[in-house]
Amino acid sequence: MAHLAHARDAGRAGFGVSALRKKLTAQIVQTGPVSIAQFMMAALYDPVHGYYSRSPNIGEHGDFVTAPEMSQMFGEIVGAWCAYEWGVIGRPDPLHLIELGPGRGTLMSDVLRAGMAAPGFEDAAQVHFMEVSAALRALQRDAVQPNIAQWHARFDDIAPGPSLILANEFFDCLPIRQFVKQDGQWRERLVGADSGRLAFGLAREAILDLSAFPAGADAHGDGAVAEIAPALGGWTDLLALRLHAHAGRALIIDYASDGFGDTLQAMKAHEKIDPLDDPGDSDLTAHVDFAALARMARAAGLAVHGPIGQGDFLRTLGIEARAAALSKRHPDAADRIARELHRLTSGDEMGALFQVLCLSNPQLPAPAGF
Ligand code: SAH
Repeated sequence: MAHLAHARDAGRAGFGVSALRKKLTAQIVQTGPVSIAQFMMAALYDPVHGYYSRSPNIGEHGDFVTAPEMSQMFGEIVGAWCAYEWGVIGRPDPLHLIELGPGRGTLMSDVLRAGMAAPGFEDAAQVHFMEVSAALRALQRDAVQPNIAQWHARFDDIAPGPSLILANEFFDCLPIRQFVKQDGQWRERLVGADSGRLAFGLAREAILDLSAFPAGADAHGDGAVAEIAPALGGWTDLLALRLHAHAGRALIIDYASDGFGDTLQAMKAHEKIDPLDDPGDSDLTAHVDFAALARMARAAGLAVHGPIGQGDFLRTLGIEARAAALSKRHPDAADRIARELHRLTSGDEMGALFQVLCLSNPQLPAPAGF
């Protein structure tokens, strides 16, 4: 059977790549160019060929690495934050511990382990995962005790009650639309087909209504790119509904942008590639406009803290002391721990590019770390 399995694997890789590119090219030839958001929808969520519908490859040996995959200290600090904030909201049991886009389940497993320092936290925690990928759901099942976790297809299926909601590198998956300023007017950037290949282009009609644009669009000159994530408002409303009904907070950590600049990025095996090259077989992301997220959350009546740099957040919550304690206990790993601390917190690594935003029920005091 070995040669058969091999043939199937080889076929799968080839099939996935060319099939989605071919499918999209054929569609575009027939029905016209699509927005970047529609392209991302297909590349990430196509039920057969989409990157997240297949098997996203996260980790040092995958396509991209995230903070919890880089160091256990990240999840431990977030876990200490959760345990503390559980106390702030009155130690509810159950506490709904919700994670959007949990990847391999590493963050939640570190959060639960660190949370054990607060007596009763682990027993109270009921874990809820929102995950599109069946392959990742299986890894999450292995990472946490499956009997305390539930998986949901819809956010509003989660049982009502007090909650802490975590989202690390989730909002950067949401499809974006891009607009380019040309001759003083904004035109949407589209994906079309040129001689049978996918190619970027601009819509002929200019956008006249800039009400959904990031603030300050007029100040930008020709060549500027503006980005809007249409799903951001829907997610903010879902979070607001839940956080208004019961005590709770959402902690959102992601690559930050101010809504301007081309941040669409495709990653494959830790290399940046052309986003049009391998739809379905590379991870597509865009930086998150935290100012837009904060504006929508405030409009929905939530209290907003941040955004602040990931480095400041982790340092305020004691990551340096945690690194020192770990190094003392494992002197042979001290160099690695110092490197991880640097990657997570330094301004020229993830410390400033990644930002942290906390949305809360407005009756709560300011959250720890802000
Ligand atoms: N938070 C993890 C993984 C980040 S990758 C970490 O830090 O390591 C993005 C995650 O979000 C993956 O688990 C992906 O499958 C999931 N995802 C992307 N879009 C989603 C959507 N619309 N609904 C639910 N999960 C989604």
